[in-house]
Amino acid sequence: AKVSGKSQHQVFATKMHEQALKRLQLEADLNQAIANEEFELYYQPIISFTTGKITGFEALVRWISPTRGFISPGDFIPVAEETGLIVPMGKWILETACRQMQSWRSQFPEAEQVTMSVNLSSRQFSQADLVAQIQETLIVTELDPANLKLEITESMVMDDVENTIILLNELKELNIKISLDDFGTGFSSFSYLHRFPTDTLKIDRSFVSNMSQGSKNIEIVNTIVILAHKLGMDVIAEGIETVEEKEILAGFNCEYAQGYFFAKPLKQDDATELFVNKAQW
Ligand code: C2E
Ligand code: CA
Ligand code: CA
Ligand code: CA
Repeated sequence: AKVSGKSQHQVFATKMHEQALKRLQLEADLNQAIANEEFELYYQPIISFTTGKITGFEALVRWISPTRGFISPGDFIPVAEETGLIVPMGKWILETACRQMQSWRSQFPEAEQVTMSVNLSSRQFSQADLVAQIQETLIVTELDPANLKLEITESMVMDDVENTIILLNELKELNIKISLDDFGTGFSSFSYLHRFPTDTLKIDRSFVSNMSQGSKNIEIVNTIVILAHKLGMDVIAEGIETVEEKEILAGFNCEYAQGYFFAKPLKQDDATELFVNKAQW
């Protein structure tokens, strides 16, 4: 419809221009967000199937912008990744999470065995000084490396297998733990899996949430657990929302559970309270 008198082409060009401006504004706001302290870490508990207790937390970043409101990490992490902003942001995330973990450790003796999981982005993972940076963060925060777990994804490790193995072994030597996140969604090659010194495999939510409908996902999940155990890895099932899902995973001898059924990602104070007051699931 030529209501405005503009040609299709002009309308299209205007749209493109608007989109480019929006993206530039997002980048500019994101750039300011670190200095303005607009990021916050939330912590989602990870529960042991055997004890029913919290054995760890995953740190998940939140951006609360004064002008935009709440922006989901799914919307800004990719932008931060493309622009390289993820590097300073990732530094802040790692340090804040380690500081939080050390604070729990110093307050609660039972936190000694708890691990803090921190997501690494692929850009961070390919930084030449990653290991040195992590070491420095552990020194600054005084956190025992055994309390830190890094979450990496299949696509990150498959990019450059030989280098990844060297890097992961360096991290293992520091006594840091490693989780393979979103397992099953990427292009993992089973022939490499046994060469990665990973402690834990996280089954992606997409498999877990479609289990109860009698689909093949039940068999897939069971097979992933068996495979992980054969390779000497523990398993975390993520995205558990129902008691049925919980029961199925427990029956497969999966070690750890994470998901809304237990708790959503929580603000620092709420996470602390849950850890102290919620004894058992
Ligand atoms: P992820 O690492 O796979 O994190 C799990 C996501 O699933 C989180 O979403 C979490 O809130 C959500 N989740 C957990 N349990 C359930 C459940 O039972 N049901 C449903 N529907 N969702 C559940 P979130 O926090 O929005 O993060 C999305 C993604 O953004 C993360 O996926 C991760 O890839 C990225 N991300 C989040 N925080 C960070 C961070 O600090 N650094 C990096 N590099 N990436 C991050
Ligand atoms: Ca994760
Ligand atoms: Ca995941
Ligand atoms: Ca995911």
